[in-house]
Amino acid sequence: MAINVTKSFLPPIEEYQEIIKGIWENTWLTNNGPLVRKLEGQLKEFLNVENLLFVGNGTIAIQMALKALNLTGEIITTPFSYCATTTSILWENLQPVFVDIESKTFNINADLIEAAITEKTSAIIATHVYGRPCNIEKIESIAKKHNLKVIYDGAHGFGATYKGKSLLSFGDITTCSFHATKVFHSIEGGCIVSKENDLNKKLELYRSFGHKNDDYYTMGINGKNSEFHAAMGLCNLPKVADIINNRKIISEKYDALLNWEKLSRPTNNIEGFDYNYAYYPVLLASEAKLLQVIDALKKEDITPRRYFYPSLNQLPYLDSYNPCPISENIAQRALSLPLYYDLALEDVEQIVSIINANL
Ligand SMILES: *Cc1c(COP(=O)(O)O)cnc(C)c1O
Repeated sequence: MAINVTKSFLPPIEEYQEIIKGIWENTWLTNNGPLVRKLEGQLKEFLNVENLLFVGNGTIAIQMALKALNLTGEIITTPFSYCATTTSILWENLQPVFVDIESKTFNINADLIEAAITEKTSAIIATHVYGRPCNIEKIESIAKKHNLKVIYDGAHGFGATYKGKSLLSFGDITTCSFHATKVFHSIEGGCIVSKENDLNKKLELYRSFGHKNDDYYTMGINGKNSEFHAAMGLCNLPKVADIINNRKIISEKYDALLNWEKLSRPTNNIEGFDYNYAYYPVLLASEAKLLQVIDALKKEDITPRRYFYPSLNQLPYLDSYNPCPISENIAQRALSLPLYYDLALEDVEQIVSIINANL
């Protein structure tokens, strides 16, 4: 059977049916219905955060965050992320300024941020890559010193903790994605976690067109999500601990079997960090080796993913080029291996033996 880099977790169908039954009773399908509110309540408790909004996806979450913080001019960001981090900045007519990454964690190199700040800089938006925390303390102190806002793209961070707190609880705003491929999902979906209550209120208005009934407060957008999506989230949330535990067991199997003389990987050794096993990235010796490994796996119907590729500072639709040699180099060699809830350990053995034979 084909093995893909991810496979969506699905709860028992009866559990989903049981929850959506209520939708047929009250005919409330969307617009802040009871299941959306229930999921929001459970997410706040699970993550131990005060302000959280369930939204349509992780990309609209970033766009709403950029808008709500009234950002202008230049936004310092990471070149090593999914394209949505950069395109959200461009979509809001802001200018991304790429700061290179650390080869240790693949996260933005906080030591290089200050040199990229100009009088036009209004914010830093960084991704917790593969669920590993950025240098949060350093970023916070730079932001304070230069009066900048901080947004974290926490799309990979659900279930990870840093210093005893959810990884989604840092910065002015952290966004998350609940897309079907993520550790926790609601088919499509995402959330916005904000520190300030007023900001949360503003984002709540943005989420449904900026009005409440006949009172129009602000320009808004449609960032809502439906009762059906919330129902999937409600089914999956109680299973997150179990999902993460299975991913841990699979990851440890890879750890034990892969040939680390020829491969490397980002470190998990970050003080105060508890991982969610969101991805299993490895770094090949060269792009040629990476392509050889992908070919060999494909012959056995196994599909890993170049994640992230390309380095975002090299996207073809940018109007200027900021060199980021470390990110460009890592993007050429990084491969995410199959990792999902019910991936069999024998399959991991097969994947590893193909990889080790091609290094
Ligand atoms: C998945 C992802 C997104 C986009 O989330 P969607 O819910 O698919 O819109 C944004 N940033 C990163 C880093 C992601 O992995």
